[in-house]
Amino acid sequence: MHPPLPRSEALIEADRCYFCFDAPCTTACPTGIDIPGFIQKIRSDNVKGSAHTILRENIMGGMCARVCPTEILCEEACVRNVHEDKPVNIGLLQRYATDPVFEQDLQLFERAADSGKKVAVVGGGPAGLSCAHRLAVLGHQVVIFNRDGKLGGLNEYGIAAYKTVNDFAQQEVNWILDIGGIEVRQNTALGIDLSLADLRQEYDAVFLAFGLGSVNELGLANEDADGVLNAVDYIAKLRQSENMDDLPVGRHVVVIGGGMTAIDIAVQSKRLGAEVVEIVYRRGPDQMGASQYEQEFAQTSGVTIRHWASPVRLLVSDRVAGVEFERTELDASGKLQSTGETWSLNADVVFKAVGQAVASDVFGEAAASFEQKGGRLLVDDDRRTTLPDVWAGGDCIHGNDDLTVTAVQDGKVAAIAIDRYLRPGE
Ligand SMILES: Cc1cc2nc3c(=O)[nH]c(=O)nc-3n(C[C@H](O)[C@H](O)[C@H](O)COP(=O)(O)OP(=O)(O)OC[C@H]3O[C@@H](n4cnc5c(N)ncnc54)[C@H](O)[C@@H]3O)c2cc1C
Ligand code: SF4
Repeated sequence: MHPPLPRSEALIEADRCYFCFDAPCTTACPTGIDIPGFIQKIRSDNVKGSAHTILRENIMGGMCARVCPTEILCEEACVRNVHEDKPVNIGLLQRYATDPVFEQDLQLFERAADSGKKVAVVGGGPAGLSCAHRLAVLGHQVVIFNRDGKLGGLNEYGIAAYKTVNDFAQQEVNWILDIGGIEVRQNTALGIDLSLADLRQEYDAVFLAFGLGSVNELGLANEDADGVLNAVDYIAKLRQSENMDDLPVGRHVVVIGGGMTAIDIAVQSKRLGAEVVEIVYRRGPDQMGASQYEQEFAQTSGVTIRHWASPVRLLVSDRVAGVEFERTELDASGKLQSTGETWSLNADVVFKAVGQAVASDVFGEAAASFEQKGGRLLVDDDRRTTLPDVWAGGDCIHGNDDLTVTAVQDGKVAAIAIDRYLRPGE
């Protein structure tokens, strides 16, 4: 999506930074990276030191440099916006600093002496890996139990292929595991292959980071018709495909939803060769989960976005042939209502991208032990659940904004809290 900066351009871009006191970009970063600090090190050609400044706060600083919506985080807060309407390109500078670490396999961290404590991490996505790495650095033994065959979570199976090319997700996972002290058990799922009770008995603490296991349905008839697909599964297949020629691509694609996943699948379909791609969202552009930048990115990639319409019927012959929509509007109290007016779009592929939810069967009998809200786990500021030895983070907790960087921060905060719990009185 964004080609890396060559050295000359990185130095020019680094020179645009004002090195603000109490830098607003750092405050806006969910992981609190010292942004002026790492940019200053780029200026003095200390690229390794710059990478250390980034990765000590955000162990997935490499992936975040590729996938973070910087336009609503650090770059939105950059004071250069006030003077020039153009922030310092923090995302690309972060990538410039961190790429050599993975290319040259440089290990920047060391493990503390063995604490003799064992922690179970359920889920090997950004939250789980971040927690596991920090715990390993602090000297604890970690076992990651992961449902899928590869680690990385949605970095590996969910994020659009054009954002993270050349198998970067696995390169980053391997680098994280190189710290040592982390055992991985793949294809092992909580709720199927192991129970929370077993983990609590065998380990000194547990961190839950299993993400969101199921996708929301439209709630319409014919959702199982040929050509009606769920966007998350399609992207997972695409990300794992050796040969993209094998993937069926629609000619006229309709995407229902308004978040990042809707944008990703729409742009991805266009790049795979679909002739017409239309996103339909039930509210206006300001209410879309996708940022304005992402909306513009889709539009300049040839995608049409239609607002204020909700799907009411999937039109089906031997496979899906179109979608009927009803116009929507806000009533006087600001509530979304239908106007009763309908219109249709032809489609040979319809993607559902209307959000995900926590899989309800993960806890089995332990479900009642946790306080939950909206199907997600409630945690305190340390990411501790209502069970004293169980922490949780990433997409599966309530209040999370479903970003990679937030999941990484949750894992880090939980690891620091678990370390305090494992060393009482120290
Ligand atoms: C299509 C799509 C595109 C996205 N694009 C972006 C983007 O561009 N930028 C961005 O910042 N964010 C993006 N996100 C969001 C981001 O990927 C997630 O917020 C982030 O991956 C959450 O991390 P996590 O560790 O909580 O969960 P996940 O990444 O979902 O990882 C969960 C892990 O838990 C494992 N697991 C699941 N169930 C069990 C179980 N029962 N037992 C054991 N293990 C289990 C899985 O195998 C997986 O490895 C996107 C999400 C989607 C769906
Ligand atoms: S806000 Fe912008 S100019 Fe100020 S320190 Fe951050 S990147 Fe540099």
